Amino acid sequence: MTEEMVSFRGMRVSADWPRRLRDAQLSTTCRRNGVEMGRVRYGDERHAWGAERRPCHDCAAARGEFHVPGCDVEECPACGGQMLGGCDCEWPDDEEEE
Ligand SMILES: [Zn+2]
Ligand SMILES: [Zn+2]
Repeated sequence: MTEEMVSFRGMRVSADWPRRLRDAQLSTTCRRNGVEMGRVRYGDERHAWGAERRPCHDCAAARGEFHVPGCDVEECPACGGQMLGGCDCEWPDDEEEE
């Protein structure tokens, strides 16, 4: 494990994380149950994560930003469940970016 860590918004993240977070802002929708839906921004979740006080504890998104794909805080826009495993919606086979 030689991955370089950097300080970002007061958190320790891998060196490429700020870029991944920036890239995440470019994909504003996801497909759910065959429907294109807008993703849920940090701070818009049904569950309060303290977005007004601190960045996302998992992916360091600031309030109003999209989470990095795979963040365990991101909510499913269809059902409000957890994007990462806690939701029963039908997903495309994978989340490949085009
Ligand atoms: Zn997040
Ligand atoms: Zn869902």
